[in-house]
Amino acid sequence: MHLIPPLLVVLAIALQTADAALLVPVDVPPLEGAEPEQRFGTDANRPYTPPADVVNHPRAPVFAVDASAPETKPLPVYRIAPDTYFLFGNIAEVDAVNRGFNGNAGFIVTDEGVIVIDALGTPYLGRRIIATVRSVTDKPIRYLVITHAHPDHYYGAAAFAELPGVKIISHAGTESYVYSSTIERSVAYRKVFLPREMEGFQAVVPDILLGGGHPARLTLKLGGKTFDLYDVGHHHSHGDLVLHQVEDKVLWVSDLAFNGRVTYIGDGHIEEIAPMQDWVKKHFPDLALMVPGHGAPQTAPFAMLDFTGNYVRALRARMQQLHARGLGLPEAVAQAGLPEYSREPLYELNHWINANHVYRLVEEEAF
Ligand SMILES: [Zn+2]
Repeated sequence: MHLIPPLLVVLAIALQTADAALLVPVDVPPLEGAEPEQRFGTDANRPYTPPADVVNHPRAPVFAVDASAPETKPLPVYRIAPDTYFLFGNIAEVDAVNRGFNGNAGFIVTDEGVIVIDALGTPYLGRRIIATVRSVTDKPIRYLVITHAHPDHYYGAAAFAELPGVKIISHAGTESYVYSSTIERSVAYRKVFLPREMEGFQAVVPDILLGGGHPARLTLKLGGKTFDLYDVGHHHSHGDLVLHQVEDKVLWVSDLAFNGRVTYIGDGHIEEIAPMQDWVKKHFPDLALMVPGHGAPQTAPFAMLDFTGNYVRALRARMQQLHARGLGLPEAVAQAGLPEYSREPLYELNHWINANHVYRLVEEEAF
């Protein structure tokens, strides 16, 4: 079947396109010192599946991934808006139970084909997303949009690079991430928990790289629907995108807001979070639904934006205060606790890492 190419509208952006996504081997041994039996938030003894209506649901599923299941087995999927489907990730860091299904993904079906948003944490899970799409529609997958190049959103992309006719789109920062030492450490770490899934891992340099800074935009027209992709800077990673389903009033906001867990701050530029959140509030006044990278989709007034923004502001203020009092890094981190967030999922795991990172930023600013 021949398909009419969708209209690509490019506005005020730096756009690089290639004929095909590039696969780059990341050949590193498993990281020494990490313990494969450690669990980071996924409790396989407490399986829990949310009901079909997951919008505004307070609790994420506990979904243990059976890596011996065939790649053709669909993952659980929820319909959250017309023709819009959502894969609800575990609230966790990667471990041998969730096997890299610790973030959300989703897809939108149109008459001319499917747009997938994010690829989950391994090529195996990427292939199971493809199987999930196949369980809903026989329309071809036309695009994979990677919101940012963190492993839980991106490492499944190689599965899509193997599919004919799929264009992979990401922020231009993805390319620099592929050639960074960060990816080597990340792959080495994942090999401890997921040796089989990460064997022979190849990173993907997407076909289309969107850059040029905020508010650069790329518009995809597919099946009579409009999909606007925006460069929202580097607030959380080497480069972050959001996707707006214009007619359906849905915004895939990725990790600009976390719903029901503490954020992770290990790279990116946290001073960009507040301006980008403010821009979202102003630019999409009639939004019906916001879909985060972690936690449930949410309706207005989108409390998760302030939940994430307030946490980052409180952490920054605390680290500035401790730095101003002359405390060094270890002492400052030891006193960085924020009791009002301490009961939030992933606080114990992420907060001290975040405090460490933010202290270093504060220290840099002081010089
Ligand atoms: Zn994430």
